[in-house]
Amino acid sequence: MSTGKINVSVENIFPLIKKFLYSDHEIFLRELISNATDATTKLKHLINIGEAKVEYGNPMIEVKIDKDAKTISIKDQGLGMTAEEVEKYINQVAFSGAEEFLEKYKDSAKDAGIIGHFGLGFYSAFMVADKVEIFTKSYKDEPAVHWICDGSPEFTLEETDKSDRGTEILLHIAEDSTEFLDDFKIRELLLKYNRFNQIPIKFGTKTETLPLPEGAAEDAKPETIEVDDIINNPNPAWTKNPSELTDEDYKKFYSELYPMQFEDPLFHIHLNVDYPFNLTGILFFPKLSNSLNIEKDKIQLYQNQVFVTDEVKGIVPDFLMLLRGVIDSPDIPLNVSRSYLQADGAVKKISSYITKKVADKMVELIRNNREDYEQKWNDIKVVIEYGMVTEDKFYEKSDKFMLYPTTDGKYLLWDELIENIKDKQTDKNGKTVILYASNTDLQDSYIQTAKAKGYEVLLMDSPLVPHLIQKLESTKDKVTFARVDADNINKLIEKDEPVIAKLNDGEKENLKKSIEEAINSQTYTVQLEDLDSNDAPFSITQPEFMRRMKDMQQMGAPS
Ligand code: ADP
Ligand code: MG
Repeated sequence: MSTGKINVSVENIFPLIKKFLYSDHEIFLRELISNATDATTKLKHLINIGEAKVEYGNPMIEVKIDKDAKTISIKDQGLGMTAEEVEKYINQVAFSGAEEFLEKYKDSAKDAGIIGHFGLGFYSAFMVADKVEIFTKSYKDEPAVHWICDGSPEFTLEETDKSDRGTEILLHIAEDSTEFLDDFKIRELLLKYNRFNQIPIKFGTKTETLPLPEGAAEDAKPETIEVDDIINNPNPAWTKNPSELTDEDYKKFYSELYPMQFEDPLFHIHLNVDYPFNLTGILFFPKLSNSLNIEKDKIQLYQNQVFVTDEVKGIVPDFLMLLRGVIDSPDIPLNVSRSYLQADGAVKKISSYITKKVADKMVELIRNNREDYEQKWNDIKVVIEYGMVTEDKFYEKSDKFMLYPTTDGKYLLWDELIENIKDKQTDKNGKTVILYASNTDLQDSYIQTAKAKGYEVLLMDSPLVPHLIQKLESTKDKVTFARVDADNINKLIEKDEPVIAKLNDGEKENLKKSIEEAINSQTYTVQLEDLDSNDAPFSITQPEFMRRMKDMQQMGAPS
């Protein structure tokens, strides 16, 4: 038996850890499970490279609560620690064995999925425990050891008689943390952080009903057995190769991720990069028009299959927060605050990579099946438009996948649109005028009037339209947008002779006057129309700039 002093530079680091290291006490469990997972992954790696000559078996991690003893135990079958290693890895606060391992096995272990990083995770145990014990036996042929620490910098370390390989961490839960002795609470935490943990996690047992044997009597009672309750799926879809997965698999994973979401996603994007950083994941386009459950079902960020956060604002571009799915990167730091995450260089790169990837996917989708893409347009356009007005990188590519629906049911790409109208919709400055309507009532007389004149009218009815138009007008050469119900149509240069109403000038003037009196407004203009070719005898219009001002006011100016 030996005793000694934990090697830290401040006299007592524990109160500090407890108060400041993590805002959330519950993450102690995630940290200890991560260590147990790393211990198992490391062992596997050492066996693979021939450095450990032991059986790997089917290791799992077991979490147990003892309410009477007020303890939680986290036990693994990983590589364990010798006395010397406990001194080195545990007693030196902020010395990361995980980092050391990665450094030592640089080439072979870089993709092994090691989670640890800062060498602080273990001490998060003291956020909820006033005493922590470690029982550990290394895969090396050395005696097992028992470490005890009561939250002061003093610890004891002695040999013990643990015979099976691996480590058990025993937490004596403090008075102010007894909520963690509740089965439901622990299960909830395991499901939150470790639902896709790399190594199976057992938490209690469950009853399973065996199928009746063939030819069993009708009234035979099916047999039940108690089996380990494994709470996680260690091989989620995003960790697999896209070529192994069918559409059905992706849908299944979607409902695994969002059990309360019963509508299938529209399509998925499987992310898979290993240069210049590591990242995997699957993003889904949900059916936005029907179920706006964005608040609850959000993109989840993982680090080596450990949940980090679903508060992804500032981490993924805003417009992608309308998507769902998982992003997993070993480069996403586990233990840090949101503001740190947002400032993190790796995280910024991830964000712009994803933007590019989504743009590429849109191009692929429209090329592969234009009809299907058009059918889904109503559900995806908000994401696309939002992306166009907020992310320049996305906007730059958008001509290839942004569709402009017309009031007669066509969906045109930018170039197709311009090709269609460039000869017939020009104003006196030589700009191509894109007419659009923002209401979905296709019987609208303004639309009818414009159509009767042979103009193309776009249907732009989403709330982002004013911003989108600003963006397009400021980047495209010689185009201008004009609302079909503003005073625009008449500014277009008409190819044919203007149509003449049947009324004589005096009659027209009188009619116009009486309508103007009726609406009694300074801001609207009354325009008489051709009485023959359409059933709207006149139109009331408002200057275009007034329309825009109103739109902007309604939705708040862009930031
Ligand atoms: P990190 O995981 O970032 O390296 P921790 O403070 O979480 O830092 O853990 C410190 C070190 O203690 C680990 O790197 C590892 O070497 C050792 N350790 C902790 N838990 C276990 C365990 N269950 N089995 C084996 N070694 C462990
Ligand atoms: Mg750790």
